[in-house]
Amino acid sequence: MAGEAQADCVFCKIVAGDIPSTKVRETEHTLAFRDINPQMPTHVLVVPKAHYPDAASLADADPGLAGTVLAEAGRVAEDEKVVDSGYRLIFNTGSGAGQTVFHAHVHVLAGGGLHEKLV
Ligand code: 5GP
Ligand code: ZN
Repeated sequence: MAGEAQADCVFCKIVAGDIPSTKVRETEHTLAFRDINPQMPTHVLVVPKAHYPDAASLADADPGLAGTVLAEAGRVAEDEKVVDSGYRLIFNTGSGAGQTVFHAHVHVLAGGGLHEKLV
């Protein structure tokens, strides 16, 4: 069923507490934790606790939850005090775009190099 935990998914294991993570925020339906391989001084991942393979599938199946993930990303930026300096939200989608974990997540990135625009 859509949204069910997947046995082979690293983020489902983090959500379940089977793999440790450095948690920065948690709500009933979302979790935010620090990326294990940070690319910037602030690099936090926000995930829905339910498993969807990518952001578009999440938004398609549960638009409210997708909105909550985005709102939580904004709250992470507030907590990290990077709203004024600016931050970037990235949803890699598909292995060709660098997605390596197929559980929807948004990267919250801040603290350096953001002037190098990709788009
Ligand atoms: P993607 O490349 O799929 O957009 O992003 C996946 C991210 O998850 C990568 O930046 C990677 O460093 C991070 N990651 C992979 N495994 C773990 C883990 O076990 N713990 C944490 N905290 N981050 C992870
Ligand atoms: Zn998962």
